[in-house]
Amino acid sequence: DEAWAEGLRWKYHDPARQEEATWRLSLLSQLDAAIDNGEVWVAFQPQVRINGGDTLGAEALARWTHPDKGPISPSEFIAAAEQQDRIAKLTLFVLNRSVALAASVNQRGIHFGIAVNLSARMLADPDLPRMIEEVLRRHGLPPQRLTLELTETAALDENGRDLAVLDTLRALGVRLAIDDYGTGLSTLDYLKKIPATELKIDQSFIKAMRLSRSDRLMVQSTISLAHSLGRTVLAEGVEDQATLEMLSELGCDMAQGFVVGRPMAPRELIQRLVGERRRRAA
Ligand code: C2E
Ligand code: MG
Ligand code: MG
Ligand code: MG
Repeated sequence: DEAWAEGLRWKYHDPARQEEATWRLSLLSQLDAAIDNGEVWVAFQPQVRINGGDTLGAEALARWTHPDKGPISPSEFIAAAEQQDRIAKLTLFVLNRSVALAASVNQRGIHFGIAVNLSARMLADPDLPRMIEEVLRRHGLPPQRLTLELTETAALDENGRDLAVLDTLRALGVRLAIDDYGTGLSTLDYLKKIPATELKIDQSFIKAMRLSRSDRLMVQSTISLAHSLGRTVLAEGVEDQATLEMLSELGCDMAQGFVVGRPMAPRELIQRLVGERRRRAA
């Protein structure tokens, strides 16, 4: 009817939406060049052992500093790249930078692992395990020092090919984490089927748990479920000391979040690791 048609016309002629769609398209067309000319870089956010506090590793987070627009959030350009199947180049770039950094840290005698986000769409490429193995070999990083964080598990084809690729990756010795666990479709079924070594509880639960009893109970039961299945648990989005202590009491293994460390440039991360080693030796 008329009102409905008018609604549709409004929806599709909304200038703000059109501008947004145009902006996304132009972003995407610039992404590959931005990677080549150094506008894209990788920040590293520390991941610590809750019991003891030492930095066991870091998560690699893509950053794009646009010459005119300034920093562009990864949730903007990554979602667009995923939708258009343009995520492969960025993934390889982040993987290379991350594995190189982890290798050089380990060569200084510091035990350190790196976590890289892997869009589930990448699993459709049967060449993926070979590419990852090649990056590890080139930089001389032992496979156990690399964790692949599976994002966007909703896009996973759980009946066959994708799971076979995950098994191949596990067989290489690479660790697998289910990212943002508890949100989207990444629920019990995924926990059962995906050969993950680690589960990252989504930050929405962690941010809420200090004040909400139900969130706290969900975190608690997720930790015990994961542990009984032999998985390591990492809490993401830990923003205050009280939450960190609560997680410690619940037996959570690892933490990541602003109270532990912000995403930082590689140089800053290395300073932190060297500082920790000095304190341990003292
Ligand atoms: P994620 O993997 O769940 O990463 C965690 C996000 O939470 C990061 O946002 C991080 O900066 C933020 N964060 C960490 N601690 C806290 C905290 O205590 N409080 C709050 N409020 N936020 C915190 P970022 O860097 O904006 O990344 C957003 C998402 O983009 C990531 O979510 C990840 O799914 C995706 N992403 C980032 N880099 C890559 C990449 O290289 N490849 C792929 N496929 N995805 C990526
Ligand atoms: Mg992640
Ligand atoms: Mg996450
Ligand atoms: Mg997240």
